Amino acid sequence: MKTRNTEEELKALLRENIRNIVPYSTARDDCQVRMDIYLDANENPFDSGVNRYPSPHQTELKKMLSVLKKVPSENIFLGNGSDEPIDLLFRLFCPPGRSSMLQISPTYGMYSVAAAINDVRVISSPLGEDFTLDADALLSKVEADTKIIFLCSPNNPSGNLLDRGQILKILDSFGGIVVVDEAYIDFAQAESFISELPRYPRLVILQTLSKAWGMAGLRIGLAIADKFITDVMSRVKYPYNISVINQLKAQEVLSEPLQAADRIGVIVSERERLAKALSGLPQVLKVYPSDANFLLVRFRDKDEAFDVLMSKGIIVRDRSSACHCEGCLRITVGTPEENDSVLEVLGVQDIPAGGDSEDRVETESGTSAGHPLHRMASVFRKTGETAISVRVDLDGFRKPRISTGLNFFNHMLEQIGCHCGIALDVICFGDTATDDHHTVEDTAIALGDCLYSALGSKAGIGRYGFSLPMDEAEASVLLDLGGRIDFLWDVKFAGDRVGDVSTQMFSHFFKSLSEHLKCNLHIKAAGENDHHIIEGVFKAFARALKQAVKLESDGLSVPSSKGVL
Ligand SMILES: *Cc1c(COP(=O)(O)O)cnc(C)c1O
Repeated sequence: MKTRNTEEELKALLRENIRNIVPYSTARDDCQVRMDIYLDANENPFDSGVNRYPSPHQTELKKMLSVLKKVPSENIFLGNGSDEPIDLLFRLFCPPGRSSMLQISPTYGMYSVAAAINDVRVISSPLGEDFTLDADALLSKVEADTKIIFLCSPNNPSGNLLDRGQILKILDSFGGIVVVDEAYIDFAQAESFISELPRYPRLVILQTLSKAWGMAGLRIGLAIADKFITDVMSRVKYPYNISVINQLKAQEVLSEPLQAADRIGVIVSERERLAKALSGLPQVLKVYPSDANFLLVRFRDKDEAFDVLMSKGIIVRDRSSACHCEGCLRITVGTPEENDSVLEVLGVQDIPAGGDSEDRVETESGTSAGHPLHRMASVFRKTGETAISVRVDLDGFRKPRISTGLNFFNHMLEQIGCHCGIALDVICFGDTATDDHHTVEDTAIALGDCLYSALGSKAGIGRYGFSLPMDEAEASVLLDLGGRIDFLWDVKFAGDRVGDVSTQMFSHFFKSLSEHLKCNLHIKAAGENDHHIIEGVFKAFARALKQAVKLESDGLSVPSSKGVL
């Protein structure tokens, strides 16, 4: 919760000239409703696809990012690459010629370039030899005119995540702006600092569409921060900083988030393969552990390694002049074939086989079932109101990836994945601001279709599932995947809403789910607390589903006297 105090505190950190700046008012700012004829901006009226100015606030794109990042749109600023928010932070908070910024060393080169352009002095604090962050050592370098601290985690070029506790210590101790650049966070097994924003209004998180999302060519970077800061950044930026084409293309790529997730999976497994193979080479002294999409590698003779790669048309980055990086090259993880080439050129004898990248990368959306060992399916469903990607693997489990724009609904869907022990991904872009109805209902349909499709012939499944009331979950669920649809709902809620979802939506959810999964579904629950009741229902459903989809026999026969379901 932002208090008046927070606002005063942040305001005091701003440069004086920025504090009361009146932004250029774009024609479209003044006009929020959709009109038929636009004669307000001196545009050319003849349609070429790009004859209109872009949305100055990138409303649609921010909505999608808001779902994916689980942060309100108002906390997101979008820039022309991360370069723009980096530059803006200096322009907002650092009076030229009389301020300094503090950065770790080694780190990303753009911070000091942008500082120099803005006439801001750079103070560098070396990380440990193994690139670890010592908060006290860094804080001892803070000077009276230090306005911003730049941290990069996972750090470039070292590749490692910085210790969370040390970063929190810096946030607790330093009174200025603390930037945590998370350009590589999607390659790491770590939670973003986004969750710390409510506690630390002086925190600014940088992310980008350039790396994990594969859109470096579009130049779109994010600053995620307190609304006060994103508002001021928006007032100072060029009015139309992201072009129509770039906004549309980004929306197109973001609408298939599971494909991006697959590619991240391949890159991470390739990173491990590459690291292992390289560390076995006699000319390699050290491969630093990486949480990013590149490896920092120390060679006995880095020039020799650089030249031999270069002679075969492979370019890597020489980082040997950076702090603690003597003899080091930075190698970006490529496709499995490209990585094979690197290993071959460097003389690795038995190149270990790449992962199951072919299996994992799905090139098409739509329904696809029928993996011999894993009963998997994916569904992409788009209507006027929602665009939903769902994927299940009934024979594999990993942490569910759920994003629907409704926090409580996310939490409930996670219960299905976790308590059923299946891999479940659900990403839903929908208009949750006006109504939760479409998001909940359409997700049920897509989930039902996806589960049905993953079950395939249903050969060998348990078919029936039941779950009886338990202490924490006062709910009972009966489930029969036999193919006939029958829905019974006996659940009463005291209130209208739980979190950001209206309680009446839950019966709609399970009804649509039973129709599309083609099952008998009887649900009964009672209790004092609505949150507990519905959580109990989702858990009980998950356990019932677990029994029903479980392979019991040889996988050939169907548990029915008729032989078919
Ligand atoms: C690549 C990278 C970025 C992203 O820059 P863009 O301008 O968004 O392409 C940001 N920070 C670090 C540390 C990087 O390595």
